[in-house]
Amino acid sequence: MKYDVLIVGGGPVGCFLGALLAERGFSVLIVEEHDEIGEPVECAGLLSTRVFEVAGISPMKVRGHPIKGAKVIASNSSFEFRAKEIKAYSVDRALFDKILANRAERGGAEILLKRRFRKMMGDSALIDGEEVKAKIYVGADGVSSVMRREIGESVKKIVGASQVEIENEIDEEIVEIYPCFSNTYFAWKIPFHENMRVGAVGGDHSHALRKLCSVGKISRGAIPIGLVRKSVKKNILLVGDSAGHVKPSSFGGIYPGLKCAEIASKVIEAHLSEGAPLEAYEKAWRREIGKELRKGMLIHRIFHNIGEERWRKIVEIMDEEMMMLILNYGDIDYPSRLIREAIKKRPLKIMKILLRMIFI
Ligand SMILES: Cc1cc2nc3c(=O)[nH]c(=O)nc-3n(C[C@H](O)[C@H](O)[C@H](O)COP(=O)(O)OP(=O)(O)OC[C@H]3O[C@@H](n4cnc5c(N)ncnc54)[C@H](O)[C@@H]3O)c2cc1C
Repeated sequence: MKYDVLIVGGGPVGCFLGALLAERGFSVLIVEEHDEIGEPVECAGLLSTRVFEVAGISPMKVRGHPIKGAKVIASNSSFEFRAKEIKAYSVDRALFDKILANRAERGGAEILLKRRFRKMMGDSALIDGEEVKAKIYVGADGVSSVMRREIGESVKKIVGASQVEIENEIDEEIVEIYPCFSNTYFAWKIPFHENMRVGAVGGDHSHALRKLCSVGKISRGAIPIGLVRKSVKKNILLVGDSAGHVKPSSFGGIYPGLKCAEIASKVIEAHLSEGAPLEAYEKAWRREIGKELRKGMLIHRIFHNIGEERWRKIVEIMDEEMMMLILNYGDIDYPSRLIREAIKKRPLKIMKILLRMIFI
């Protein structure tokens, strides 16, 4: 059997792309190495409201817990901002993936579980011992993508992360962020109904996590940052974590991954129906979201490596006007917008922050 599209990876990005293509009448096979979609969960499950619009999923369907703001804590100093409206939801991530997989199957896509894509063999894919043919192959196979290696690409960095889920003990409307906590990039506490997720990313994340929370079973994962140089080679496309479609400022990959899947679906449709070039995918996602992800890399280099003490000094000079700027322009998916507005509207304050970052 020859498919129109073979997608390696039944994560949220692979399933969403599979759903969009199957709904347009293309034959789609999704290959997933695990025996259950959505498991094991390696995610804090914090999704901006925009994600639900793109995915077409109601927050309530994934047990969405509304989040309105954040408290930034560095050593013994902190500042907090809280919007009137909901900014994000923490969700049941396994359920989120399953809903997308069900949508793909309802649209007509086949999902093959417990099968691993091994390598390309000429114009076929080797799925365990079997050769499967498709017109287009998509690598949506996550952080350690085999498909990415297959086309000779790499991401800039792969960063480790740890998390536990325990009983909630923080304000139920806001997340707590601990920038540069104990030599990590940052740590977090995110409320999820009666529980909260406590995690850390970068550095010795497991050790840092234990300093923040001594109980709970740790789950570990990895996150890629830095985009691949090329996401299309012949009839192979990369999307999601496999292409480095992750915000380097917050390490969130669901929004950019789904957005790029949406773009990929349109380019694949144009290719299969009219012979339009697949290379258009590369240009389109770079125009739509690539610039922001590159700016995010700069934010990551500046703000994730200055240490807790410098963060304490920044936190201490936050004032009412800065809170208002954050509330008006802060956007977890497009963090550069806040920085641009802050430079425009509070240049002296930004200068002061920079000086505090340089001269501790
Ligand atoms: C601790 C942690 C917390 C996070 N928190 C958030 C958050 O709060 N918000 C957010 O937006 N993002 C978060 N992320 C990132 C987010 O989880 C990823 O960006 C997202 O899962 C990417 O989706 P994907 O479909 O591209 O890849 P994945 O979800 O990794 O899916 C890839 C799938 O491919 C399968 N696969 C891999 N190789 C093969 C193969 N050879 N053959 C068959 N199948 C294969 C895998 O089993 C997997 O199911 C977090 C990540 C971690 C580690």
